[in-house]
Amino acid sequence: MRDLAKLPKAHLHLHFTGSMRTSTLQDMATGHGLRLPSVLLDGDPLRVPADERGWFRFQRLYDAARACVRSEADMRRLVDEAAADDAAEGSGRLEIQVDPTSYAPFVGGITPAVEIVLDAARVASAAHGTEVAVVVAASRMRHPLDARTLARLSARYAGQGPGEVVGFGLSNDERRGDTEEFAAAFRIARRAGLASVPHGGELLGPDHVRQVVSALAPERLGHGVRAGEDPALLDELVAAGVALEVCPSSNVGLGVYPDLEAVPLRRLVDAGARVALGADDPLLFGSRLGAQYEAARTVHGFTDAELAALARSSIEASRASSGTRARLLAGVDAWLASPDGGAGDAPPLSSASHPPAR
Ligand SMILES: [Zn+2]
Repeated sequence: MRDLAKLPKAHLHLHFTGSMRTSTLQDMATGHGLRLPSVLLDGDPLRVPADERGWFRFQRLYDAARACVRSEADMRRLVDEAAADDAAEGSGRLEIQVDPTSYAPFVGGITPAVEIVLDAARVASAAHGTEVAVVVAASRMRHPLDARTLARLSARYAGQGPGEVVGFGLSNDERRGDTEEFAAAFRIARRAGLASVPHGGELLGPDHVRQVVSALAPERLGHGVRAGEDPALLDELVAAGVALEVCPSSNVGLGVYPDLEAVPLRRLVDAGARVALGADDPLLFGSRLGAQYEAARTVHGFTDAELAALARSSIEASRASSGTRARLLAGVDAWLASPDGGAGDAPPLSSASHPPAR
């Protein structure tokens, strides 16, 4: 049984506030004199019967947590801890997703908010050995013109390395907003070379996935699991090379599936989909990246060779440089070649390719 924490992988679906450790949330709430719903601190906030799970409960708790992040120091701490926690689970590449709008009032505007996250990502990459790049996400709850503003801002920081913006997303309740109206923002992002990585296919099914695909031309779909309900659609996604950021604990936490067994991971992989497992919001869903791979092993019966293929898939779906991908993929091969997975440690980041943080 190889150690999954030593399997090199890329983490492509993790939200900024949602990445937070419960203890950090508690510290921030105390520091700012804020009261939190106690359920947020009990370690398993969505452990309720399946029919009581759902978006609104999630959104209320997420908003309460986000309200505790209200300084540059808070923002830097989040990025640092997300990188540390990812590094401990074998993630060699984290593409963390942030909508800077909510934090802007505390740090002097949307541009400083983005720059703080990018600088923190550079610092965390050097400190923890996991490359941290950033996906800027617009919100379906806001006006599409806000999304365009964010896309133009993101374009200024486009790149592939640590502390650069690699993608543009669209988050929040899939049922809100008109997907078409966000197409202009995604065109701006794609012209700047950013990956289009909108959410889709978690709360809503195949018809909505089709809308997202035609309007936003995703390189990766945040979730996309519901595409499994329509084999023709799934085949189209596979043929188009659209990767799926599958987050099993999120699906269960939001009541999309009653339990992990029901998440169609095996069906997606068998259909040839490029799947990258992700944790989405560990703060609310109660498990981090490693647990998603553990579930693939224990719940879905993935062998070590299949788990290595999942890790490869995540690395290939990332926006990491070819050098980083090659290094991580070599680590996956080494993990699989070693009887206990102990040889899978990816070589450390070379300092030459990662200049010190500005
Ligand atoms: Zn998400």
